[in-house]
Amino acid sequence: MRYKSTRGSNDFKSAAQAIIQGMAHDKGLFVPESIPSLPFLLDELKGKTYQEIAFAVIQSFFADFSEEEIRHCVNGAYDDKFETSEIVPLVEAGDAYFLELYHGKTAAFKDMALSILPYLMTIAMKKEKEDKKIVILTATSGDTGKAALEGFADVPNTEIIVFYPKEGVSQVQERQMITQEGKNTHVFAIYGNFDDAQTGVKKIFNDRDFADELAKQGCKLSSANSINIGRLVPQVAYYIYAYGKLLDKGEIWPGDKINIVVPTGNFGNILAAYYAQQMGIPVGKLICASNENKVLTDFINTGFYDIKRKFYVTNSPSMDILISSNLERLLYHLNGNNGEEISELMDSLDKNKEYKVSDKIKNGLYGFWAGFANMEETNSTIGKMYTENGYLIDTHTAVAYKVYEEYKKSTGDETVTVIASTASPYKFADSVAASIDLSVADDGFENVRLLYKETGVKIPSGLKDLETKEIRHKGVIHKEDMKAAVRNALK
Ligand SMILES: *Cc1c(COP(=O)(O)O)cnc(C)c1O
Repeated sequence: MRYKSTRGSNDFKSAAQAIIQGMAHDKGLFVPESIPSLPFLLDELKGKTYQEIAFAVIQSFFADFSEEEIRHCVNGAYDDKFETSEIVPLVEAGDAYFLELYHGKTAAFKDMALSILPYLMTIAMKKEKEDKKIVILTATSGDTGKAALEGFADVPNTEIIVFYPKEGVSQVQERQMITQEGKNTHVFAIYGNFDDAQTGVKKIFNDRDFADELAKQGCKLSSANSINIGRLVPQVAYYIYAYGKLLDKGEIWPGDKINIVVPTGNFGNILAAYYAQQMGIPVGKLICASNENKVLTDFINTGFYDIKRKFYVTNSPSMDILISSNLERLLYHLNGNNGEEISELMDSLDKNKEYKVSDKIKNGLYGFWAGFANMEETNSTIGKMYTENGYLIDTHTAVAYKVYEEYKKSTGDETVTVIASTASPYKFADSVAASIDLSVADDGFENVRLLYKETGVKIPSGLKDLETKEIRHKGVIHKEDMKAAVRNALK
């Protein structure tokens, strides 16, 4: 199984090479030449553990890794650093199943991929006899940053550099990042939003002169964002696992379709669900949920992608994104692997801030349904879910549930539905506490305590001592200075 770029250059890579490189040299993203089929019969998914499924999925995508290597990665990643032995519990509440993806170290679904990526990267470096130090550059809308820092802290022969939007993350998210320990960790706030951070990081990746300069220093850039295929593949596993769990519960029979709802920002998580479907999991609709930054809702409904619009800072900050990177991969799969068209679309996005897709792609979008929720709807959804079902969800998951309700209302579709629950409610304690009518304090940590007192939901251990931890990263920079920051960090 080889990997090639969405922009059509004939630059084939092994999985190990694609993981190390992060992004293709023609500015495209690496995609598998073909999507492998499910490594199990549907009936065989019954009773499988998370680790068994993760192993088989990674093996089918990363064929150049040996069985032993993958086992080492899976066992190292999905162990007791997850606060539940199931790794991802599937919890029924209201009229849906919530796939709780947030029981890893940093309390968001980013841990699912970022606890294994450092293992995959280390083995890839060994396989490729990579003699340079790998510098992981990461733009974050709040959750990737901490999960990547936690994953790569003190991993030999790596440095990890994270950029986050100064005004665009929650207090808990920011504190998680700036208190990060580890000799190889670097964190910078930037004046700007997530799109600025991501565009800046991509620009640095595509700067060949800078790559040469770093090479002379013995360094090479890579990515821990979902543009890295090593991030995406491990995420496919949990959708397959969820199907197995629904079989276990007797909720579906092998072959029955399920719907999947994903609160979406950079389109990585929902693309993983699409891959699970392409592998053979029976999925009716993939439901894409956005907040006020609803560029994807509009795109899926019209085929026209337009970022000439206001950027909103919302209470689901990890989805405050207008340039949704992984959509590029979906478009490539939908147009029958025509890299030339993708290249033109992405150039148009760069220059004209918009693009319009061909009918072929538009028809392919039929498998998706899209909607959005504003902040008020998000808050009232959290409140309603808690009052009616005693179940506490975070703001991102609430966006997904609200859009699911709207989907059901407009289609009448009663198919069994899995909602990707992407973060612990404690990461967004201010909004969540307000949504269940607590009298909130100005301080986020006070609200964590309030929320615990009211609900008794366990506080993730990674968030417990945050308030008193030493702040180690204080840099705030302009987006024009990101390259200089990288240079300084590597001195
Ligand atoms: C990153 C994130 C999302 C968006 O996921 P994408 O893969 O970028 O679409 C949603 N919710 C939370 C809590 C996140 O951290």
